[in-house]
Amino acid sequence: MTSRSRLDELAANLAEVRDRIRRACAESARDPGEVTLVAVSKTWPASDVLLLASLGVTDFGESYDQEAATKSGALAAAGVDVRWHFVGSLQRNKCRSVASYADLVQSVDRAPLVDALAAGAHRAGRHLDVLLQVSLDGDGTRGGAAPEDVDRLAALVVEADRLTLRGLMAVAPQGRPPREGFAALAAAARRLRVAHPTADVVSAGMTGDLEEALAEGTTHLRVGTALFGPRLAGG
Ligand SMILES: *Cc1c(COP(=O)(O)O)cnc(C)c1O
Repeated sequence: MTSRSRLDELAANLAEVRDRIRRACAESARDPGEVTLVAVSKTWPASDVLLLASLGVTDFGESYDQEAATKSGALAAAGVDVRWHFVGSLQRNKCRSVASYADLVQSVDRAPLVDALAAGAHRAGRHLDVLLQVSLDGDGTRGGAAPEDVDRLAALVVEADRLTLRGLMAVAPQGRPPREGFAALAAAARRLRVAHPTADVVSAGMTGDLEEALAEGTTHLRVGTALFGPRLAGG
């Protein structure tokens, strides 16, 4: 850290992101108050999360279980209550841990994860909100269920104890304009909501494409780089 303190830096970044959200919402006559900003804090220290929380950010996203467990523990120890979103690729053997701290698990994309999260939530005496992650480009290696599997997975979540189906999540497609992918996601979310009214969340839009996502009706943005700065490695 040079002359400018990290708090000032984060405050300036947050103001810029909020401004982008305001302008994009104005373009499509949306209320910025209905958009949740999830600060994706992976690779950044708990001290940064504390600073952003002090600036009014309430929702944080993490991608790696061990890092998330440590960081959520640090925030709890500091007596600061935030909502944790798990947005990373999820493995069955991590579900018990994730269920112990996550409030909203955004990356459920296959049936075995539903059972494992329900068991973890039961064990932790908690309830979890769940999003189904959908692949918008048919490339399963980047995570996400095929759109035709959404109904079946949704039914499993609805039947599971301690899980509430809240909607859909996606990352922008590769080899296709982001806005086209986000429009497809919005259409899938509308279909899902007919059968499951609690599924009112659409999570899409990151640092590079939040305007496109807002134009297509996203309710939750997942923003890392624009808030914290570029990740150094491996994030
Ligand atoms: C890292 C990550 C983000 C944040 O991406 P930025 O481009 O840094 O804003 C959003 N969503 C997921 C799933 C991520 O892994």
